[in-house]
Amino acid sequence: MNAAARPKNRPLCRIAVIGAGIAGLACARTLRQAGKQVSVFEANAQTGGRMATIESPFGSFDVGAQYFTVRDERFQRALEAAAAGTARRWSANAVRVLDQHGRTVDAAMPARESHWVAVPRMNAIAQRWAEPLAADGALHLGARVRGIERDALDAGRWQLHVQGDGDDHPVHAGFDAVLLAVAAQPARTLLSVSSLAQPLTKAMAGVQTTPCWTLLLAFPQAAQPGLITLGPQWNAARSSHHRIAWLARESSKPGRAPIERWTVQASNDWSREHQGDDPARVTAKLLKAFAEITGIRAAPSWTHSMLWRDARTTTPLGRPFLWHAKLRLGACGDWCLGHRVEDAFVSGLELALTLARDV
Ligand SMILES: Cc1cc2nc3c(=O)[nH]c(=O)nc-3n(C[C@H](O)[C@H](O)[C@H](O)COP(=O)(O)OP(=O)(O)OC[C@H]3O[C@@H](n4cnc5c(N)ncnc54)[C@H](O)[C@@H]3O)c2cc1C
Repeated sequence: MNAAARPKNRPLCRIAVIGAGIAGLACARTLRQAGKQVSVFEANAQTGGRMATIESPFGSFDVGAQYFTVRDERFQRALEAAAAGTARRWSANAVRVLDQHGRTVDAAMPARESHWVAVPRMNAIAQRWAEPLAADGALHLGARVRGIERDALDAGRWQLHVQGDGDDHPVHAGFDAVLLAVAAQPARTLLSVSSLAQPLTKAMAGVQTTPCWTLLLAFPQAAQPGLITLGPQWNAARSSHHRIAWLARESSKPGRAPIERWTVQASNDWSREHQGDDPARVTAKLLKAFAEITGIRAAPSWTHSMLWRDARTTTPLGRPFLWHAKLRLGACGDWCLGHRVEDAFVSGLELALTLARDV
């Protein structure tokens, strides 16, 4: 690109945000509040990203993030201001710690801080924050960005190639800046198709993430007369079983259907080793481990397993976001700071505040 073709100090008016997880939405709503014209492109049909919910005939499952913490007061204020009533404390912050055989090692981790969940399901906060953007016609769902390149009519701006979104307008042009709010691996993939984006790709070279197999189980038989729940008395546990790292009784979360449902997350190592396995095999193996840990040997009436390829950051970027002022390309997401919902929020917020302030 010829840098001379780019007008100096052009105001940053039209901004594209790729990804409508918590980072992208925190970023987009802050920029909108600062008077910027924001367009959000989300590959899925729903907002929320890894704060995801799957519906079953027996009730919903939080298939990604299980709960979140609220340590940063800006996160607290954002929840109170624009998502009031959607965050509730989950009493399971007394999380058991189990050994590899399912025996309790620590009855309840001290409740250092509250565990929050969104109600009625985990993606409710994202949905609420997305409402003003949707009302502006600025939220494109089912719109996967395939490429970022210089605007064909104005070399100082960017255009996006978008698949889906009705496909009537696969090219969205005229953006002064493009911000990626996707997980680390998709960010690399998107940036790698634009040779201009090399400085960002280079900056995130050290970021590492790990996958997570997740199994969902429903036991409607526990609702039979005389039975309240199957298995253990606890509702959430961390486990050192080689296959399973986390188990939670979905039905114990506030605002959820009462039918007994469990979400099981495989350990980092096991998920990595079994990335190529088919879901049926994974279900069988994790179900066996689940029975060993919980003592629940009843056959579930409904099961579902899925692999999150970029579930958890193991080596973060170590700063809140990436922003290349000359290229006017940026990136945010949990992987900048850590592996939690709150990290994603802070990353998206800080990128937006920097842009609103400095450009
Ligand atoms: C199994 C699991 C359990 C977890 N448990 C917890 C927990 O208990 N507590 C906690 O705090 N955190 C937890 N996390 C982490 C938490 O979910 C994430 O830190 C947070 O949701 C990340 O938000 P984000 O906006 O950075 O990214 P994401 O939520 O991944 O959002 C990125 C969005 O970008 C979209 N996208 C990707 N590529 C494109 C493209 N090309 N075009 C358009 N859109 C695109 C995706 O569809 C997605 O919606 C868990 C995560 C997983 C997977």
